[in-house]
Amino acid sequence: MFIETRGNDGKKSAKVEFSYAILNPSASFGGLYSPETLPKFAGSFFTKMTEKSYKELALEILRLFHVDIEESVLKEALDLYDGFDDKNSPAPLVKVKSDLFVNELYHGPTRAFKDMALQPFGYILSHLAKKRNEKYLILAATSGDTGPATLETFENKENIKVVCLYPSGGTSDVQRLQMVTADGENLKVIGIEGNFDDAQSALKSLLASETFKESLKKQNINLSAANSVNFGRIIFQIVYHVSSYIELLKQNVLKEGEKFYITVPSGNFGNALGAYYAKKMGLPVEKILIASNINNILTELLTTGVYDISGKKLLQSTSPAMDILISSNVERVLFDKFGAKRCKELMSELISKKLYKLNKDELESLREDFDAVYSDDEFALNAIAKFAENGYVLDPHTATCIKAYETIKQKNIPCVICSTAEWTKFAPVMWNALQNDKIKYSDKVALENFSKRLNLRIPKCISSLFEKEIKHPDVVKKSEIEKTITIFLKG
Ligand SMILES: *Cc1c(COP(=O)(O)O)cnc(C)c1O
Repeated sequence: MFIETRGNDGKKSAKVEFSYAILNPSASFGGLYSPETLPKFAGSFFTKMTEKSYKELALEILRLFHVDIEESVLKEALDLYDGFDDKNSPAPLVKVKSDLFVNELYHGPTRAFKDMALQPFGYILSHLAKKRNEKYLILAATSGDTGPATLETFENKENIKVVCLYPSGGTSDVQRLQMVTADGENLKVIGIEGNFDDAQSALKSLLASETFKESLKKQNINLSAANSVNFGRIIFQIVYHVSSYIELLKQNVLKEGEKFYITVPSGNFGNALGAYYAKKMGLPVEKILIASNINNILTELLTTGVYDISGKKLLQSTSPAMDILISSNVERVLFDKFGAKRCKELMSELISKKLYKLNKDELESLREDFDAVYSDDEFALNAIAKFAENGYVLDPHTATCIKAYETIKQKNIPCVICSTAEWTKFAPVMWNALQNDKIKYSDKVALENFSKRLNLRIPKCISSLFEKEIKHPDVVKKSEIEKTITIFLKG
């Protein structure tokens, strides 16, 4: 069962099942649904799983959570991993140095790790909507990776409509094209004049608009969300951390019980939360190392115990998916460690004072599981160039993990870095790193140059984007969003 991170308001159910939590992700007082208890991996679980496929491992973990979805539906959802580059290994673990491994999470249809969770999650959500004969609107604001993955998973799904808001000019060409060429009667993509914060705040004011809620009600449309606080995404993000360990056992790098580090390039903390839950369930993780960019809010929290956004402005970096000040899933860790009462208190302080402070014991408790460090663009670009010279290509997000690997990994044990995107999504930055220049290249030119230089294949789903028809040309002012969506919903 799932309970609420800020406690119960007496109006909502105090405990809900998995299906409820994913269809109605907002809990009392603006909180989130979190598992009441976490299951445990039984003795020699990992060794046993060395015989099994990724899909079988995922099913085993879903069973441990007793999710209220038929097994046949779960299996169909997991079959979507067959569409990844290697159906036997959707998230391959690649050895880069004797103690450094990369868990490549970007081999799905939109070339970012969002597919690992959104592919099966979208299938399950669509199934529930159809079975219950309910209509859902999924609203998403994206900085560039969630949008394409959400559109991809819900394309032409019955009873589901998706509206995706992106900052016009704030994404790479490839990310924009992935969205504006999306084909499906049930999809609407809208560019917003402004940055990602503007897109997100536009979405928030829409959700608060009475006229908008009234018009949804009249059409019998329920609102849901596919953002990374939805537990239906988190559960699939536990699996690949476990699979990376099983791979280390299979490659004879470790024996069952021996520990390893997991390093995650973090934004909204979904990926890191998946690792935290896996650790609590018994995965032998020494520590989860959090990598951030110059928006170093998580590094501050995990080193000083203070979460302070009062004097901060969002800065643009070469790792835009990590440009974030409010990292939503941190709340679930605070809840898990300190309980609903304290969690609510901390979250209220964040809203009213734009700041909260953990006490010494609380910080110590966080640091038992996490450490963190941030890097700037210069570091990331150098890391990209240095690793590319040695034959391994890291995207600008994954490159921030090198700082963690080099500076805060304290023990001489293996370190697994989560690679969250393929280089093809950020080709201009990649080419800047190799050229050591700051020229603004187009995605098309940079893709060609970079792939030629390093003799890399560009997947068809990326190269074909430049020839596809633009289906969603709209770029609108914030004030026009509601009208644009209302027209779309009326068909
Ligand atoms: C979403 C994303 C991240 C951040 O992941 P969180 O789970 O939100 O912390 C990092 N890198 C890339 C490429 C992403 O798309």
